[in-house]
Amino acid sequence: MTAILAIANQKGGVGKTTTAISLAAGLAALEKRVLLVDCDPQGNATRGLGHTARAPHLYHVLVGESPIEAAILPSGFPFLDLLPADRDLVGVEVEFVGLERWEEVLGARLAAIAERYDFIRIDCPPSLGHLTILALVAATGVLIPLQCEYFALEGVSELLSTVRRVTSALNPELELAGILLTMYDDRMKLTRDVEREVREHFPAKVFEAVVPRNVRLAEAPSHGLSILHYDIKSRGAEAYLAVARELLRRSR
Ligand code: ATP
Ligand code: MG
Repeated sequence: MTAILAIANQKGGVGKTTTAISLAAGLAALEKRVLLVDCDPQGNATRGLGHTARAPHLYHVLVGESPIEAAILPSGFPFLDLLPADRDLVGVEVEFVGLERWEEVLGARLAAIAERYDFIRIDCPPSLGHLTILALVAATGVLIPLQCEYFALEGVSELLSTVRRVTSALNPELELAGILLTMYDDRMKLTRDVEREVREHFPAKVFEAVVPRNVRLAEAPSHGLSILHYDIKSRGAEAYLAVARELLRRSR
């Protein structure tokens, strides 16, 4: 079965898109067939891989204006395809209100092409609106990037209660695939304190690998490249390769 991972956290700027792109690229580098789905109207995953969304993209697929095959692009990197998005995608937040069984639409669309891929990664927007729910219902797992700062855990409990609602009502398959500590700076006491708290609170769910704050990770998207293509020797690239390997180990 294709592992479909939603990368979600309603808090903004915690590293969701960086994680989605880097993990997709990391798995593709290991010659796994990967689809990266940009499920955020900000379109950062699309632009971060050097693309501009043109119709048809994810919006047209979700509202039934285009078959999914027509919207998927080769990313330009081996083994990696992209289902892009742009700001039109925000229309879903309005148009799906009151629609029957809207929650299942992304899952149904992905089911048509899932067997072409070993892994599908979905980059979620910073909200718990329709787009994140669509991703959670389509997914087999959710990965939560978490920045080590005050109140980080409170945001995670809200997200986890949404995950539980989705699991009990709509998608019993959905698992917590893991919590990933991002923008990690071990010189800061706050980072170490939050890390200890998160690891105690979610034993076995926090990735051993942590993603350091690394300027190469911040630079890569402006070049339209994943960190692996931008600077394979950087600490950011090493960290995300370690996370990709950990995920593969766990999914066996
Ligand atoms: P949003 O909620 O807006 O979608 P996000 O959770 O997807 O944000 P990113 O876009 O991945 O977060 O990261 C936010 C910013 O921080 C970006 O400019 C990104 O390049 C940078 N960034 C992400 N991870 C790191 C890191 N480990 N080290 C340094 N900069 C990082
Ligand atoms: Mg993002």
